[in-house]
Amino acid sequence: MAYDDNNIFAKILRGEIPCHKIWEDAHSFAFLDIMPRSPGHTLVITKARAENILDISEEDLAHVMAAVRHLAPAIVRAVDGDGFMIQQFNGAAAGQTVFHLHMHIVPRIEGVPLRHHATHPEDDAKLAAVAEKIRAALAEQ
Ligand code: 5GP
Repeated sequence: MAYDDNNIFAKILRGEIPCHKIWEDAHSFAFLDIMPRSPGHTLVITKARAENILDISEEDLAHVMAAVRHLAPAIVRAVDGDGFMIQQFNGAAAGQTVFHLHMHIVPRIEGVPLRHHATHPEDDAKLAAVAEKIRAALAEQ
């Protein structure tokens, strides 16, 4: 499948669809998932035109992973988490629904179960509050 420039994340990158932005650099962009599996669930996406882990360059993939490594501690701290999970799907059969490469950072709290993938839209005010906390935690880092 060829990369679709009109996928939702490409539109978010171009500023055509709003998002709760957490951070960006020259290569990657991070924002909250609107159907979080847990509070603070963040998506880290490449700025390159890449669908999945097989068609992104090794260099751009390394940038995304460095961003995950940079962001995860602040995300976990912001939601008083105990750990975090990284998820990444390749192809519809694997559960990918948006065909622009992204990593999920899903904070985990001891004993708290996860919601199912992409099933529960979160209240926008709650997302805004969590995003603010994460940005504050990043600023302290
Ligand atoms: P995938 O299944 O492709 O790995 O995950 C796509 C993710 O994007 C899902 O977790 C879903 O909740 C999230 N998502 C879908 N549409 C939007 C949107 O318009 N904005 C944001 N912020 N997240 C979205």
